[in-house]
Amino acid sequence: MSETRLQQILGKMERTHQKSPLSDAPACLVAASKAQQEAALLPLLAAGLRDFAENRVQEAQAKWPPLRARFPDVRLHLIGPLQSNKAAEAVALFDVIQTVDREKIACALDAEMRKQNRRQDCYVQVNIGREPQKSGVMPEQLGEFLAFCRRETSLPVLGLMCVPPADMPPAPYFALMRKLKTEYGLPRLSMGMSSDFETAIAFGATEVRVGTALFGERNKD
Ligand SMILES: *Cc1c(COP(=O)(O)O)cnc(C)c1O
Repeated sequence: MSETRLQQILGKMERTHQKSPLSDAPACLVAASKAQQEAALLPLLAAGLRDFAENRVQEAQAKWPPLRARFPDVRLHLIGPLQSNKAAEAVALFDVIQTVDREKIACALDAEMRKQNRRQDCYVQVNIGREPQKSGVMPEQLGEFLAFCRRETSLPVLGLMCVPPADMPPAPYFALMRKLKTEYGLPRLSMGMSSDFETAIAFGATEVRVGTALFGERNKD
């Protein structure tokens, strides 16, 4: 049952926060709900969870409007790569955009937010392991990119997000993310997934994005 899993995860998050000096405030659990259907989401909504994350604009568009009508205070996070031709849909649907990672996307989002008169929180995705196949700004280019966003857009850039390399101990990457967050004076840090959310909280994550540990294994299609 996902409610039992939810309570277990919240318990682990709370205990980790209590014993971690770098965890300034309790982290927010964001349910990574890609590939999950309404039947899997309803128990979590009924249990009071309100932060959900989707990877694909189209999937979210099909799934969330009816749920939103019933749970208007849901906060929907975009955590997958965004194409600029999907910026209008993304701005219309999401409350937090965690994957701002290049100038073209920053400008497209900014233009759409003006047009739709919305101003949602944005995070810059950092390619913290400098992996060629992953999206995200390289750590050494982050300063320049943040300066670009400040100068050329009015995006509210509140934080940083990362997906560290798989099959490597995540702690050094989380530590580096925390350093970047402090260096650039940003309040939010989205990091940690099913296998490493406690480590991420110990390094000061403010949002953890958990899928498998909440819902069980996703169907691989
Ligand atoms: C799927 C996904 C998650 C959740 O991963 P789990 O290992 O299932 O917890 C977190 N972040 C991103 C960007 C994802 O795509």
